[in-house]
Parts: sequence; structure tokens; C-alpha cells
Amino acid sequence: MLPTLTPSARHALPWCNIAALTVASTSSFSSLANNAAPHGRAIHTSKQRPSPPMSATLDAVTTVQAPVQPAQEPMASSRPKKPSALSVLPLTSVLRSLMTTTVSSSPLLLGPSMAIMTALAHSTNPLLNPDRNFFLRFLLKKTFYAQFCAGENEREVRQTIDGLKAVGFRGVILGYAKEVVLKDKEKKNLASFDASARQEATAKEIRAWAEGTLETVRLAAAGDFVALKFSGAGLEALSDLFKQNMPSPALASAIDSICQLAVSRGVRLLFDAEQQAVQAGIDDWTMAYMRKYNTPKQAVVYGTYQGYLKATGTILSEHLRMAREGGFALGIKLVRGAYLGSDPRHLIHDTKEDTDAAYDAMTEALLRRQWMAPLTPDSGAFPAVSVVVASHNAASVERAQALLATGTLKTTDVAFGQLQGMADEISCQLVLDAKITQAKEQRPDAGVQAYKYLVWGSTGECMKYLLRRAHENRDAVQRTRSSRDAMVAEVVRRVKAVFGLT
Ligand SMILES: Cc1cc2nc3c(=O)[nH]c(=O)nc-3n(C[C@H](O)[C@H](O)[C@H](O)COP(=O)(O)OP(=O)(O)OC[C@H]3O[C@@H](n4cnc5c(N)ncnc54)[C@H](O)[C@@H]3O)c2cc1C
Repeated sequence: MLPTLTPSARHALPWCNIAALTVASTSSFSSLANNAAPHGRAIHTSKQRPSPPMSATLDAVTTVQAPVQPAQEPMASSRPKKPSALSVLPLTSVLRSLMTTTVSSSPLLLGPSMAIMTALAHSTNPLLNPDRNFFLRFLLKKTFYAQFCAGENEREVRQTIDGLKAVGFRGVILGYAKEVVLKDKEKKNLASFDASARQEATAKEIRAWAEGTLETVRLAAAGDFVALKFSGAGLEALSDLFKQNMPSPALASAIDSICQLAVSRGVRLLFDAEQQAVQAGIDDWTMAYMRKYNTPKQAVVYGTYQGYLKATGTILSEHLRMAREGGFALGIKLVRGAYLGSDPRHLIHDTKEDTDAAYDAMTEALLRRQWMAPLTPDSGAFPAVSVVVASHNAASVERAQALLATGTLKTTDVAFGQLQGMADEISCQLVLDAKITQAKEQRPDAGVQAYKYLVWGSTGECMKYLLRRAHENRDAVQRTRSSRDAMVAEVVRRVKAVFGLT
């Protein structure tokens, strides 16, 4: 069981002591911001950090053990302030988030930005390729790339990961950017794909994907996750997924080496969910590798389940039964689903509210390990599950946290994940909650497990990923505005702190 604080426990805590934590973190990040790395992302400069915030924070939070005076309501003027979760972020991150959320939540700025991003992501013109055009690369790298991506090479990626872990994240979910998003015409061509006509090209695609993914596993540390997209393995992989064939011998051998390396390094693998055209194939492959690498108690391989699909409850139930019969833990990353614009609309819940309800109910069923709707009824045992609650939805994250806080759940292997550059206010609150629990229980591994999902690759390789993030921010305007407002409030708080006004 991963203890966390119930909302009432949070209110009972003496915030003035937590505020000490906030000040400690902020001051170390101010120095951090001053020491910003050449590519300008202060969060990546943990090696230059004067004092690791984790230990500083734990020391500060230890004072939380001081007796609480529950019955006494402090006078308004002396009432301790709730700490700002965003205080754990360096100033450069806050300002960059403010910039991207301002663009994303402004119809005036978003239209032209989206048009430019779409052109860059799909253009074959070398002048519009950030990997060939120095000025374009510089501009993107300092702004949108820095906000959403981990780095272009090992040094940059490691700095980003170290920075996040120093802030208090349990770890990272690391992905390699290369991916293929199919157009309708390309989907039709997959049915008539002729492998014999392009053997050399196929071998090259598999090799590039395998090398990139193996390198990603090497960049991750024990306890981290690596996310991978089968679509990145090239046209033959896509065609086999589309036809629901198992992977070719060359690709199967590449996937095996990735799984074996992950097992040897204590890294877990999240197989991403993609477009409907290939998702049934992805499910088949994922289950085959779960059967091979997951132990009866814990998952190495996780599948991704998209809550926005009407069929997901049934598919997840089938997979749970397969796990029970096969004697392995089912690894589940729960998402709402990112292909609203391209997946067939009739397969998706009719309203956002239906998707929300399905997502929350599935999370609850998995955390309780009960065959409750939308899972299909079953009178047999519920297999062991390892779960990643991957969401930027504050209500869903809080619900899952509240369930965990009851201390009565049968599922204990639960992580939370948000994408880098998105919903930082939620991620940082998870980190803060974990730190409080760790201090209370005097265990550095206690509390909610917060992870950030990072994508790495050259600026050009990351363009399609960046475009998807832009679409997602546009589609979730209300959430983007909340993030922007949280960033504005954080900037105001820091300015006031400088003038001693807090
Ligand atoms: C760590 C992590 C990993 C991810 N991995 C994947 C992955 O492998 N595959 C993938 O597909 N996505 C993935 N996603 C993206 C995810 O699917 C969502 O697009 C994104 O997180 C937004 O959903 P949300 O839970 O944050 O909540 P919200 O922002 O509250 O919900 C937005 C989502 O609700 C759904 N929705 C919106 N409008 C409607 C409507 N009218 N009717 C029905 N449903 C609607 C859509 O799914 C939309 O994305 C991942 C997200 C995270 C954080």
C-alpha cells in the first residue's frame, strides 16, 4: 500500500512548516536557474545544484512531526499559508510553462502557432526541417522543445532526468520520439503491403527503432519506465499490426533484446496505445510479451488501455482473465486516449463525461481488484496488477489518490504519470504529497509515486510529438487555462516573496 494524505489530513498539517520546505526548494532552484545549462533549461542542471532539494526537503518536512493544534483556528493574519506545489519548479520552467499555456489558451495566438507546427511536422522541405535549419532548431529548442522534450543526446537527457529526480519525482517514463502517424490513404495501403519488395528498407527501419529503444532503456535507471511505440519500427511492423500478424522474426528478436535489457536493468516497459487501425495488433503483441516477461506478482511489460473507447472495459477484462490463467501480473497504463481526432468516432464514448466516468470506474476496479463495471462480471480471482494512472485530469488523479489513502486496497503497485511540460501543478502536488508522507513515515520510498513522461530525440524527430501536444492543449482549453492561471499565481507569489510581501 502506498500511503498518501487524505484531503483532510492535508488541511490538518501545519503549513508554516511546509512553507519552510517551499522556501528551501525555491531558493535552491533560484540558484539553479542562475546556473542554467547552455540550452537554457534550468531543470536540467541538477549537477550544479547547490543542495539536493530531496534531502533539504525531507529535513524541512521532518518538522511536520511537531504536534498539531487541531482545535485552534489561527487568526486570519497569522494563518499559515498552503504551500505552492509549483514552488519546487525552477523559475525558467515556470516562465516557459506560462509562455506555452498562454499561447495554447489564446485563440488569437493558437491558430497561427498550430498552422506553423503542422507545416513543420509534415514538411519534407529541408529549409523547414529543424534538424537542418539552424535558426529554426534554435528557436524551437529554446521554447516548445524545451517545454515538452527531454533532450537530443545522452548528456541533455541525463540532466533532465537528474533534475526531475532531484525535485522529488520517483522517476521518469522515457520515450524515443520517432513515430509514424498514418493518414487514411496509408492505412489502406497497409493491407497490400509487400514485405519482399523492400527487405533492406525494412531491416533498416527495425534496426533504427531497436537501437533507439535500447539506448532509451540504457538511459533509464532501475525503477524508471521506458515507453515504446511499435509504429516506430517501420512499415512492415505497421502492416503486421494492421493484419494482426505476430511480429516478423527480426522484429521479435529486437523486442526480446529490449525486454531482456529492461529486465536486467530493473526498467519497466510501457507499450503505448496508438490508433485503432493498429491497436488490436498492439494488444496481441503486448499480451505475448507480458506472458513472457511478467512475473506472477509484478509487471515488466505494461499495455496501455484507452478509457475513451467503448470496448476498453471488455478488452481489459479479457486481458485480466488471460493474466489469471497464464499466472502473470497484468501491467496496465490507463489513459483516456489521444486519437480523438483520427479514431472512428462511433468507437469512442459519446461524451467527455462518459469517458471520464469510464476512466474513473476502471481505475477504481483495478485499485480495488474487483470485477466492477465497466469490467465484465467474473466470479474468479482477480490477478495481480501493476498500474500506471496516466492522466492530467485533476479529479481523476485526486480520486485515485483518495482511494490509495484509504489503506484498504489490494493493489499496491501504482504509479502516476503526467507528460513533461503539462499539468505541472498536478505533478508537483503529487511530489509534495509524497514528501510529506515520506517525512511522516520516515521512509524515502513511502508516498505516491509520481513520474514524468519525457520524450527524447532530435528537434526534427520530436516535431510530430510536439504537434500532438499542441493539439491536446488546444482540445483541453479549460485545463490549459487552469495551468496558465496556476503559473501566473506562482510568478506573482515569487515576485511578492522577493519583496517580502508573502
Ligand atoms: C503518461 C502518459 C502516457 C500517455 N500515453 C498514451 C498512449 O500510450 N496512448 C494514448 O492514446 N494516449 C496516451 N496519453 C494521452 C492521454 O490519452 C490523453 O490524451 C491525455 O492525457 C488527456 O487526458 P487526461 O486523462 O489527461 O484528461 P482530460 O484532459 O480531462 O481528458 C481529455 C481526454 O478526454 C477524452 N475526450 C475529450 N473529449 C471527448 C468527447 N467529446 N467524447 C469522448 N471523449 C472525449 C479524450 O481522450 C481526451 O484526450 C498519455 C498520457 C500520459 C499523461
